[in-house]
Amino acid sequence: MLAFVPVLGIGCAHLVGVSSWDFRPPGDLFSGEAWSDGELPGRSEVVAGQLVIHADFPIAGQHRLVRELEEMRADVSQQLGLPISDEPVHLYLFENPDRYAEFVSARFPAFPSRRAFFVETDTTLSVFAAWQDRVAEDLRHETTHGYVHAVVPAVPLWLDEGIAEYFELPRAQRGRHQHHLAHLAGRIIEGTWRPDMERLESLEAAAAMSQDHYAEAWCWVHWLLNTTPERRALLQDYLADVRRDPATAPLSTRLRRVGPGDLAGELRGHVERLTAD
Ligand SMILES: [Zn+2]
Repeated sequence: MLAFVPVLGIGCAHLVGVSSWDFRPPGDLFSGEAWSDGELPGRSEVVAGQLVIHADFPIAGQHRLVRELEEMRADVSQQLGLPISDEPVHLYLFENPDRYAEFVSARFPAFPSRRAFFVETDTTLSVFAAWQDRVAEDLRHETTHGYVHAVVPAVPLWLDEGIAEYFELPRAQRGRHQHHLAHLAGRIIEGTWRPDMERLESLEAAAAMSQDHYAEAWCWVHWLLNTTPERRALLQDYLADVRRDPATAPLSTRLRRVGPGDLAGELRGHVERLTAD
């Protein structure tokens, strides 16, 4: 039996309206090999680029979602300026939600109930998900974590989530997260939103991330990637530096050096412009 002590130093708990939960256990507490035969989905296996998809139902390599997840690898790498890795990302897909729930409660007893989650250890990158109505969004989100962690294991929690929220949308939406946008627009009307990247950077625990944090994290990523080439380059350079040196200067510090001066006003303006479109 795998002893699992969920010290939630790093990870994320998605709250209202968000789907999944990602968890990085301390040390090497998790190993797929440690589990008994039949516990994990293993009826069919498909390799799609970096992804190794294990399902307890027949899943074909040409399945639209499999192709979409495979194609995301180039998109994530291109937009974030990251190299492509060959490190496998294992996706375990449970057809039966009850079986998935049983697996989660047996192996990750302290986890809140979520439809999907990502687990990183020193040796493996794995996603676990139940096959249900929102599986496409869940898998795009969690697979993004896999692609990013394969090359930037030390990506900060808030940015990790902002990036995954950005890429969880169908490609045609080009990162425009209607749910987060409506949430932030509501906060602007209430006068209760003061964007603050440093506050996001100070979050260390999954449990501390609220819906406001997820929405703002998404918004920073959207703003950085979609407003000017300089901002996109700033994010790309930052990720390249974190890859080499996790203790590199935070993104907020770099952003303050280049401006604009009123970053909070700029981000609110970004939401207002998007909402008016
Ligand atoms: Zn996540």
